[in-house]
Amino acid sequence: MNQRGILVVVSGFSGSGKGTLMKALLEKYDNYALSISATTRQPRAGEENGREYFFVTKEQFQEMIREDQLIEYAQYVDNYYGTPKAYVEKQMDAGKDVILEIEIQGALKVKEQFPETLLVFIMPPSAEELKRRLVGRGTETEEVIQSRLERAVKESEGIERYDYLLVNDDVERCSEEMHRLIQIQHNRAVNCLEFIGRIQEELKKIAK
Ligand code: 5GP
Repeated sequence: MNQRGILVVVSGFSGSGKGTLMKALLEKYDNYALSISATTRQPRAGEENGREYFFVTKEQFQEMIREDQLIEYAQYVDNYYGTPKAYVEKQMDAGKDVILEIEIQGALKVKEQFPETLLVFIMPPSAEELKRRLVGRGTETEEVIQSRLERAVKESEGIERYDYLLVNDDVERCSEEMHRLIQIQHNRAVNCLEFIGRIQEELKKIAK
């Protein structure tokens, strides 16, 4: 039942631990590819161009939009973020399940374009725990933490539009659950159209 990779969108509030979760998943399994987004925000300490993000100027980002190089893009806390199309398509064609770690506006745009996309939202165990993680990270100013908490309030209004929720209380357990959730999508009939067609053809031949 060989098939194209599937598209998975993972969202979660800033501080939900989704980055750590993705890292754990990619370390354990080699059938996943994580899409690298383009962004106009400044790199944080330890981030490298082409690894966490492609860090671009506003002008470069606008050019990517004009040239239709992005699957989706959105504005988040004064910066633009977008998913480059070419890499995603190449990896899916090679049979990899591609994960987009993007925020809610982008997630819903992807689902509109590709309705078979799996949308997963990573929840913190509690709102208090989310704030504790944001403060504890120590990489953001008080102002940025506040704007991310305000944004979380807004984003929490769209969560019911996702397909599944996962509570990230334990990275090991949560990454296993995510793996199972993604793999079962391969058995959805809508993701197996080529296989269905092949069996139908073969059946016709032997039934005559
Ligand atoms: P951060 O600045 O913390 O790395 O990311 C801020 C938010 O932007 C996160 O919610 C992250 O998932 C989201 N994000 C990262 N890349 C993309 C993208 O390509 N498109 C969209 N729509 N959101 C993104």
